[in-house]
Amino acid sequence: MEFELAEEHRMLKDLVGRFVRDELMPLENKVLAREAEGNGLGLDAADHVRLDRISKELGLWGLDAPEDIGGADLPNVAMVGVEEEIGRTVTPYTLPPDSPNLRMLMATVNERQKALYLEPYVRGETVSAIGISEPGAGGDPAGMTTTAVRDGDDWVINGRKIWISRAADADFTILMALTDREKRARGGISAFLVDKGSPGFNVLRRIPMIGGAYTYEIALEDCRVEGWKLLGTEGNGFAPMQLRLGTRRIQMAAWSVGMAQRALDMIIEYAPQRVTFGVPLSERQAIQWWVAEAATKIHATRLMVYDCAWKLDQGRDVRLEISMIKWFATEMAYEVVDRAMQTFGAMGMTKELPLQQMSAKLRTMRIYDGPTEVHKWVVARNLLGTRR
Ligand SMILES: Cc1cc2nc3c(=O)[nH]c(=O)nc-3n(C[C@H](O)[C@H](O)[C@H](O)COP(=O)(O)OP(=O)(O)OC[C@H]3O[C@@H](n4cnc5c(N)ncnc54)[C@H](O)[C@@H]3O)c2cc1C
Repeated sequence: MEFELAEEHRMLKDLVGRFVRDELMPLENKVLAREAEGNGLGLDAADHVRLDRISKELGLWGLDAPEDIGGADLPNVAMVGVEEEIGRTVTPYTLPPDSPNLRMLMATVNERQKALYLEPYVRGETVSAIGISEPGAGGDPAGMTTTAVRDGDDWVINGRKIWISRAADADFTILMALTDREKRARGGISAFLVDKGSPGFNVLRRIPMIGGAYTYEIALEDCRVEGWKLLGTEGNGFAPMQLRLGTRRIQMAAWSVGMAQRALDMIIEYAPQRVTFGVPLSERQAIQWWVAEAATKIHATRLMVYDCAWKLDQGRDVRLEISMIKWFATEMAYEVVDRAMQTFGAMGMTKELPLQQMSAKLRTMRIYDGPTEVHKWVVARNLLGTRR
C-alpha cells in the first residue's frame, strides 16, 4: 500500500496551491464585497482575463483532457490534489475546462462533435451547462418528463428544466430528455447538445441562490436540435450522465477537504490570539476538541477521496464510494466551517471573512448532485440489498 502522492502529482498540487495563494486569495476581499453588495459571487472581466493568462502560462489548463487535443490526461488522483487546493479559496475560478462535462463529452462525442464541441471546450473557448433537473424531478432524475421526439433528421424537445447553473451564458447545454417514456433510465434517456440562443430554448428566469450563486429555469418549447447533436446513442444518455455526476461528486469532495482545511487553519491562527475571561480560546477544551475533531475528520475524508479516485483510475466500480464521499465530505466540511464561524464570534458572522461564503457554498453542495439523504440511501440500499 502506498499513501504518498506521486512526485509529479505532488508538485502539481503545490503549483496550484501557489496559484491559489498568490492569485486567487488576494481577490477574495473584492469578491466578497461584490457579493455583499448583492451583485453575485463573480470576478471582474479584467481579473478573469488575467487569471486565464496566468493559469495558462503555468500549464494548468486541460489537466484531465486527452493528450491528442492538447490536454495532460492526468489521472483522477492528480485531480484530487488540484481540486483540494482550488477548494481553499472562495474566489470563483475554474481551471478550464471544468471536468464533469469534459468527461461526459469524452465518453460520448463522435468526430464531428469532437471537432465542434469537445476541442473548443478543452481549449477554454467555450462554457457549458448541464440540464438534468426539472420542477418535478431533481434527486430522482429518472423521473424527468422533458421529451425529445424525432422529426425527420431532427429532434424536437419539449419540457421544463430548473436550477440549471450557467444556462443563460453557456455556449451550449448538455440537455437530458426522454426518448422512450417506458424505458426511462434503462435505455430511454438521451443527451443532446443545445446551443445558446437556439429557438425554443427559453430562459424563463434567473434564480438567486444563497452564497451569491444563480441558477436558471428553462422552458423547452419545440426546441429543434439537429440529429447529429445527439450525444452518444439514442436512449443511452443515463450512464454518461452518471459518469459526469460522479466526476463532479469526487471534485466536490476534494473541494470540501480544501474548504475544511482552510477553516481549520483559520481557527488555529485565531484561537491563540483571542482572549476571553483572561484565557486564550486555544486553551479552552471546547475549541481544542473542535480542532482535534476537524483535523481527524479532514484526514479521514482526504484518504477516502484519494482511495475513491485511485480505484477509479484502476477502472474499478466506485459508485458506492462516490456516494459515501459526496455526503461525508460536504457534511464534514459544513461542520468544520460552522465551528470556525463560532470560534470567530461576531467576526465569523460578517461578510468580510470568507467563512460565511464557504458555509453557503457547502450548504448548496449538500443538495446539488444528489442530496445527502439520497446518497446515504444509495449506500444503505446497496448494503441491504433493498430496492426502495
Ligand atoms: C446551487 C445549485 C446548482 C444546481 N445546478 C444544477 C445544474 O447545473 N443542472 C441541473 O440539472 N441541476 C442543478 N441543480 C439541481 C440539483 O442537482 C437538485 O436540486 C438536487 O439533485 C436535488 O433535487 P431537488 O431539489 O428536486 O430535491 P428533491 O429530489 O425534491 O429532494 C428534496 C429532499 O428530499 C429528501 N429526499 C429525496 N429523496 C430521498 C430519498 N430517496 N431518501 C431520503 N430522502 C430523500 C432529501 O432530504 C432532499 O434534500 C442545482 C442545485 C443547486 C442547489
